[in-house]
Amino acid sequence: MLPIYSPVEEIQNELFKKKQLKVFIKRDDLIHPFISGNKWRKLKYVIADAHTTNKRHLISFGGPYSNHLLALACAGAMFGFKTSGIVRGDEPRKLNHQLFLCSQFGMNFIFVSRDAYRDKELLYDQYFGTDSDAYFIDEGGAGNLALPGCAELLDELTDHYDHLFLACGTGTTLAGIAMGASHRNLSTQIEGIAVLKGAGFLHTDIQNLIGTEHHYKLHLDYHQGGYAKTNMDYLNWLFKFNKTGLLLDHVYTGKMMYALFDLIKKDYFKPGSNILTIHTGGLTGLLGLNEQSATEQL
Ligand SMILES: *Cc1c(COP(=O)(O)O)cnc(C)c1O
Repeated sequence: MLPIYSPVEEIQNELFKKKQLKVFIKRDDLIHPFISGNKWRKLKYVIADAHTTNKRHLISFGGPYSNHLLALACAGAMFGFKTSGIVRGDEPRKLNHQLFLCSQFGMNFIFVSRDAYRDKELLYDQYFGTDSDAYFIDEGGAGNLALPGCAELLDELTDHYDHLFLACGTGTTLAGIAMGASHRNLSTQIEGIAVLKGAGFLHTDIQNLIGTEHHYKLHLDYHQGGYAKTNMDYLNWLFKFNKTGLLLDHVYTGKMMYALFDLIKKDYFKPGSNILTIHTGGLTGLLGLNEQSATEQL
């Protein structure tokens, strides 16, 4: 298994000082350059399960800029699995940087239309129904097996935090951490920043994963236009933040950090609070900004 190197660092900023807050970041981006951040935590027990059930071929799904597919391609290569990625959208003339990296790790691709992409079970049956080695992994590594790996992040913390902030796509990582926090009797408020527009469905999805007894809060208004969308105000803020030397991507971690700054300005936090942000990794996603206009990325 991959050793976890993910230190907690304090982020220095005049605004935090003025509002008497301490802000920290857990550097899950340092776990691995390609099996990055929450993707390693989500895949850990999935890959262990594939191993114990003697499956040698991992199949999963994602958009053409999927951090999950890259993590899977790399982890698969490292742990001796064959990997296939079912990718949403037409086969491109030239692979983008993310899929190129996946291909370096030996991942095979099947490109499918947006329509066909909706029914993942059907696609899996069509292409791999007769492959007795095949192992189904949902888009983004979502599902019950992803939860314990995400919850384990909490065991690496040595201090108490009043708030824990992270970016949410499917909400699986948040679900695992929220469940883990209540099992460990932590009073930390777990707060998710939705990166998709209209992400109210997250409440139901998270409840389906962990039930209603675990507490968390979702912020739905910091999507900046939607998944993989941006706007100039946000990008200018992000590019300025990145010049502090702590690199964030525009799809996930940038939105989370922007939200934190905005909430601090709006006096959302009690003075004296300790806030932990999670760097969920995915930095290769930033290269997508340089490849084509941000709004074309889906
Ligand atoms: C995939 C990803 C997320 C979203 O994780 P979910 O468990 O789907 O909510 C957050 N941040 C980064 C960098 C990611 O790659």
